[in-house]
Amino acid sequence: MSQYEIVIGLEIHLELRTKSKIFCSCPTTFGDAPNTHVCPVCLGLPGVLPVLNKKALDYAVLTGLALNCDINTYSKFDRKNYFYPDLPKAYQISQYDFPVAQNGNLRIQSNGEPRVIGINRVHLEEDAGKLVHSEEGDYSLVDYNRTGVPLVEIVTEPDLRSTEEARGFLESLKKILLYTGVSDCKMEEGSLRCDANVSVRLKGETELGTKTELKNMNSFKAVQKGLEFEVERQISRLEKGERITQETLRWDEGSAQTVSMRSKEEAHDYRYFPEPDLVPMEIGAPMVEEIRKTLPELPLAKRERFIAQYGIPEYDAEILTSTREMADYFEECVKIFPDPKAVSNWLMGELARHMNAAGLNFYNIKIAPQHLADMLEMLQQGKISGKMAKEVFADMFASGKTAGQVVAEKGLEQISDRGVLEKIIDEVIKKHPGPAADYRARKEKALGFLVGQVMKVTRGSANPQMVNEILRDKLK
Ligand code: ADP
Ligand code: ZN
Ligand code: MG
Repeated sequence: MSQYEIVIGLEIHLELRTKSKIFCSCPTTFGDAPNTHVCPVCLGLPGVLPVLNKKALDYAVLTGLALNCDINTYSKFDRKNYFYPDLPKAYQISQYDFPVAQNGNLRIQSNGEPRVIGINRVHLEEDAGKLVHSEEGDYSLVDYNRTGVPLVEIVTEPDLRSTEEARGFLESLKKILLYTGVSDCKMEEGSLRCDANVSVRLKGETELGTKTELKNMNSFKAVQKGLEFEVERQISRLEKGERITQETLRWDEGSAQTVSMRSKEEAHDYRYFPEPDLVPMEIGAPMVEEIRKTLPELPLAKRERFIAQYGIPEYDAEILTSTREMADYFEECVKIFPDPKAVSNWLMGELARHMNAAGLNFYNIKIAPQHLADMLEMLQQGKISGKMAKEVFADMFASGKTAGQVVAEKGLEQISDRGVLEKIIDEVIKKHPGPAADYRARKEKALGFLVGQVMKVTRGSANPQMVNEILRDKLK
């Protein structure tokens, strides 16, 4: 196995987050009743004319910029001809020789090493409909709601060298795409789909081996598992002196193996030709620069800045920048409560824990950055103890109340008033002369008992550090 090198290239389809479809005004919302988002244009009825949704083009350019691509000044649409029941026109409007963007790259960390993965192209196309295969009978139904939803296809160079690297690449890519906001990237809803191409060759060989292609993988885990299976299968064939057949495969989750869909001989000839109903696009420098302005700071840059600006560990920076929302939340908090490490600890700890348990995300939690910052302030000032803070936080998380409100309602405020504490401590000493005498006789242990008594009287709300100090003072 180790004398072989693995070569992987990925093709990623991404549904863009536009409100309407790419060539008509039908909505793109997911999950509505079948065939309710259709019109003559997306059904491909004769005599209709497609009109490009400008937002789809903007998003394609933005995707290209996020992946360090060159944006083509001249770009056009082409017809990709094939027949399938989910494609009512019998051709898909796609891009062939002049995609929106080309020659990019994505930097990833693989096994702790920096790697640069080439991006061959980013092009625009329309999605096909969806076949719903019946479970009872041998028939299928077709839902055309998805027909004409804008897609970008991202094609990588065959630069990936292991199945883990392929998965890591997809995770980095998804993170970046979510940052840019061009798609919701929900694999379970088909917003992000992946075809994985893989071949193996002897180490040192410069020619690429014959590849097979795994179609329409809808989870990163499936991509990795499918690729692992293919690598094993290809190597074992080569070991037996057999050849690899270039073919398209389907990953069957149930049997955990790949199943052939079609071989190269049956491959389509798509007879691409320029789409006569759409004029070519001119994507001028001013337009590109306008769009570049909307490109947010991307995860890697943000991570580096967080380390430098806030002095937090690399580990924290990695987690805090895992989504743009978390990073923004962190920065909002730090603006109000400028102790980055404390804020980071609470975000990665209590907040993440409660969010996971409640199945919430940064869009729908009730606790605002201001609220968390206020609570940290109370904690720092000793108004609440660390233990109370967790209780207060849980309440704030559930109710959306401020720390001040929760503390007042529950009577949780920590007693840090010296006068008040002294009075209570005098009482406790009076009530327990034995332990007090023991402590004076240098029995350290007795102090713990007295502190415990003060805590009991105050129901745990006395500031423990102050109680210790005052007791030691009084029993000198
Ligand atoms: P096709 O014409 O079969 O679609 P392309 O050259 O367009 O092939 O490449 C499609 C994808 O397959 C790209 O992501 C590319 O990096 C990858 N690829 C191409 N050749 C190989 C190979 N021999 N091994 C692995 N991946 C490959
Ligand atoms: Zn339509
Ligand atoms: Mg191709």
